[in-house]
Amino acid sequence: MLDENRGQRLVILGTGGTIAGRAAQSGDNVGYVAGQVSVADLVAAVPALAHLPLVVEQVAQIDSKDMGLPVWQALARSLAAHLDDPAVSSVLVTHGTDTLEETAFVLQQVLQPRKPVVLTCAMRPASALSPDGPQNLSDAVAVARQATGGCVVVVCAGQVHAARDVAKVHTYQLNAFDSGDAGPLARVEEGGVRRFRAWSAGDSRDAAPAQASPDLLERFLAAEALPRVELVTSHADADGNLVRALAAQPAPARPLKGIVVAATGNGTVHRSLVEALNEAKASGVRVVLASRCARGRVVPHAGLAFEHSHGLSPVKARLALALELLMG
Ligand code: ASP
Repeated sequence: MLDENRGQRLVILGTGGTIAGRAAQSGDNVGYVAGQVSVADLVAAVPALAHLPLVVEQVAQIDSKDMGLPVWQALARSLAAHLDDPAVSSVLVTHGTDTLEETAFVLQQVLQPRKPVVLTCAMRPASALSPDGPQNLSDAVAVARQATGGCVVVVCAGQVHAARDVAKVHTYQLNAFDSGDAGPLARVEEGGVRRFRAWSAGDSRDAAPAQASPDLLERFLAAEALPRVELVTSHADADGNLVRALAAQPAPARPLKGIVVAATGNGTVHRSLVEALNEAKASGVRVVLASRCARGRVVPHAGLAFEHSHGLSPVKARLALALELLMG
């Protein structure tokens, strides 16, 4: 699939997910196994891609619920090498939907790409009667070819989302992703990309807490584990037992370094949990408040019990803090 068309080459990296899933029956959209079909076969199933200068590479073959540092490192390593190649115009990644927003965010933070990086996925397995993967892949290629400038975006169900804003919001609908208040960056309409707003590093309305630096990619690739940051939820009838148990764990290889709280509303936290979090903070653990609300952000104000997540969702705030701690 290689060609000499310098500067035009698209690279497609496969990591598994439902887009590469297979079920025993074609009518089964939920009882399938993710990560069964090779990325080469996914690409071959879209005839419109046959004439394009493509390179495909199978980086992993997993259900993205099991995503973690080793696959992120393999992806970041491969992406960095391909993005550095002047023959490559952009890189696509096929991925499961469950942790897509986390991978998109991590890649944006550690790579700060200058070329388009487009992640895509599917909600139905490749074996479905009517799979959504081929259309999503075709749309992602259209976005990769028409995007100018660099940043990590997610393409699903005809929408383009920024890494910073995107979240999976539905368990089975084909349009399972949403960009909250920011809205999508663009739509894909019969192969054309209709932009709604500037296409930069995630349309940050807040400064990202962990700004990428040249050292970050190097440290990320060399890390044996990310600094340990746990996620806890504030809820009615909460107490501080979970936080105290976390803080009290013997500290072998990965001592607790941070806690992100999926707080209620505008960063409010159950008073019993606040007590335990203050104890953790006093012992040197960073505590960051994100909101468990699907929309809005924690608006900074003097009454906040702890630092806020700069508009990041709980799962992304967890990663941002881990990356910040990685930089020491
Ligand atoms: N569990 C699957 C995954 O994330 C779900 C999907 O891809 O839609 O790999």
